[in-house]
Amino acid sequence: MSENLIEVKNLCKYFPAGKNRTLKAVDNVSLAIRKGETLGLVGESGCGKTTCGRTILKLYNQTAGQIFYNGEEISHLKGKDLLKFKKNAQMIFQDPYSSLDPRMTIGEIISEGMTVHSNLSAEEKNKRVTELLARVGLTDDYANRFAHELSGGQRQRIGIARALAVEPEFIVCDEPISALDVSIQAQIVNLLIKLQKENNLTYLFISHDLSMVKHISDRVGIMYLGSLVELGTSDQIFSHALHPYTQALISAIPAADPRSEKDRERIKLEGEVPSPINPPSGCKFRERCRYATEECAKAVPELVEVEPGRFVACHHWEEI
Ligand code: SF4
Repeated sequence: MSENLIEVKNLCKYFPAGKNRTLKAVDNVSLAIRKGETLGLVGESGCGKTTCGRTILKLYNQTAGQIFYNGEEISHLKGKDLLKFKKNAQMIFQDPYSSLDPRMTIGEIISEGMTVHSNLSAEEKNKRVTELLARVGLTDDYANRFAHELSGGQRQRIGIARALAVEPEFIVCDEPISALDVSIQAQIVNLLIKLQKENNLTYLFISHDLSMVKHISDRVGIMYLGSLVELGTSDQIFSHALHPYTQALISAIPAADPRSEKDRERIKLEGEVPSPINPPSGCKFRERCRYATEECAKAVPELVEVEPGRFVACHHWEEI
């Protein structure tokens, strides 16, 4: 089995929500990401997947739990050690427009990280900007342009070049295609796959688009209201989901073949996602679950390994 690049144990990130209330955005999440793989992290908006990615990257301090990078605990890194980790672990943002400074040229945006993390001369940085633009499929004249002159797809390519500029090992791709036209989405995902192979990158790919997650991910984790409810290989999750929430999400993916689309049985989730400030007792999914029993209201289902590498948090997964 390959080595883990990232491992989180019982990770929690809570935010104060007024009147002595707490928003548990990430609640006791444990997972590992192996070197060179893509772990897809899926769930509805507000389920905590972005907060989880940002906490792993140390953009937020965790409330509790541990984060390991290459086997070393990084939960409380500071100063130079934190800077070194931030060079190795980068992020590609959801909205490529708002994440690029409109006053800076593309060349300045891409080379900003090199200024912080390396001693390259201006000439060396310019050369590297040209190389990075080529790697993301753009010509060197883009270096003198500004973000507002570019299309959404081109801006996301710049976001990717900026992340690659400091030669990271690990990248959190936070909904990197959701703001893009459908026609451009596959191009960006294929670019990420190509760059991963060329640079032996490890990705945490956060998305609510299950089709894209299936296309890019080796393994997939499903989050609901701040908790991980299922984790397995992409094949396991998409061919035989065990958790009722995962089953409902997968049933909503349109079939490519119109004949199978006609026969597709869609599991309709009842009700809205509950507030993470005041989640239901026991299983947080129980108010929307068609298999819920009394036990589900009383006890929180633990995420248990039901076969090697396959985890699920449901009291009744064997009967479903
Ligand atoms: Fe449904 Fe109960 Fe399983 Fe939760 S624990 S997913 S409510 S069956």
